[in-house]
Amino acid sequence: MRGAAGKIGVAVVNPFGASTARRAKRRPKKRKFTNPGASYAKRLERYRPGLSRFTLDALAGLYGRPTWERRLDPTSELILTILTQNSADVNAEVAFEALREAYPSGLPTESHRPGAGWGGVGLPEGAPPDWGAVEFAPLSELTDVIRPGGLANQKAPRLQATLRRIREERGDYSLEFLGDMTALEARDWLTQIDGIGKKTASVLLLFSFGMPLLPIDRHVERVVHRVGLLPLKASADDGHDLLLGLFQPDEMYEAHVNLIQHGRKVCHAQRPDHDACPLRPRCRFVDPKAP
Ligand code: SF4
Repeated sequence: MRGAAGKIGVAVVNPFGASTARRAKRRPKKRKFTNPGASYAKRLERYRPGLSRFTLDALAGLYGRPTWERRLDPTSELILTILTQNSADVNAEVAFEALREAYPSGLPTESHRPGAGWGGVGLPEGAPPDWGAVEFAPLSELTDVIRPGGLANQKAPRLQATLRRIREERGDYSLEFLGDMTALEARDWLTQIDGIGKKTASVLLLFSFGMPLLPIDRHVERVVHRVGLLPLKASADDGHDLLLGLFQPDEMYEAHVNLIQHGRKVCHAQRPDHDACPLRPRCRFVDPKAP
């Protein structure tokens, strides 16, 4: 594992911990954090030195270095991310907009700042839905509301179960308290909710709090497998731990966003554009003996 880390663009923090000041106050010294990707990173560095640095820099040459900013409040981010599960981002936006219209909250409006890795057009400015109304809506009604986003029969009960769990644990629907946890603690808290895996949890924590996690969607997974940053036999679930050792915590956002962009624009599932790819010199997909 590499050195100290931070919430991206927010404050200087410990790799997988809360801010240094908070850590000193809340965490006894004996309590250690172990980066679950540290030993894998050492092994990769031994047999393919500098590969993660090469990847990051090569992609930055193509796409620049994106800067983190919160894109939505964390509860909205979580619900929007659930709506993207097995659906296109643009369809998730339609379903989220339908929630806003059907269950208006009267809360202050917020802007959606989706950034370069997002596959939709971005939500219009608007207030978050009334989450209580969503939780207690008749299931058939909620299913009809989000139907335009796809897989409504699965997602409507999942949304309600998620909101119920948050309310029962916390007394309201706010997830701001996650910002006081370490990245791995917060991820553990979220993944105890049925239907929320490491990817969904990591998206929320990376985009709402700048925590050093690297969500692996199908685009990221394809690129890291092809280049060889992750072994082919590693599942996405394992990958969510293994990749944490490959990049500095304050590089996670950049790595995630640029890997997604690369998977969408160049390293397509079918007919990847090797000639336009700066990763080609070290890509094991085009040369199994690439350094
Ligand atoms: S060289 Fe081809 S397969 Fe390898 S990362 Fe680039 S586009 Fe993808």
